[in-house]
Amino acid sequence: MRSITLIVIHSSAVRPYQESGVSEIDRWHKARGWKNGCGFHFVIRRDGTIELGRPLSMEGAHCKYHNRHSIGICYEGGLDMEGRPCDTRTRAQRQAMRHLLGQLHSQFPKALIMGHNVFAPSKVCPGFNAAAEYRTLQPR
Ligand SMILES: [Zn+2]
Repeated sequence: MRSITLIVIHSSAVRPYQESGVSEIDRWHKARGWKNGCGFHFVIRRDGTIELGRPLSMEGAHCKYHNRHSIGICYEGGLDMEGRPCDTRTRAQRQAMRHLLGQLHSQFPKALIMGHNVFAPSKVCPGFNAAAEYRTLQPR
């Protein structure tokens, strides 16, 4: 297993009527030339379903300079109807994300949980302050 010191939270940057599960993201990322497809390890659908992307043992492709030691989690959404970035997580997505992060925190207690924008300040992704929201699941 890789050494995991970071969990990065993303949105898929789609509007409320757009689908973005692992299969759609897999197509988008292959179109960018990433032969391993979907760069995230988990994708959380609007109904709270957690889809599996890359295996945890495999490096992701979701956060420049930080893929080697991290896990990438993406929730489906992130834009409003007009395409403006915002936190569009449904109640089911919030519950699923907290549950998944709880499990990953037990498995990788030294991993920080951060939003993508911490590492890419020009991006709004994921549209909320992940480090603050999950402060109880941060390493002590
Ligand atoms: Zn992102």
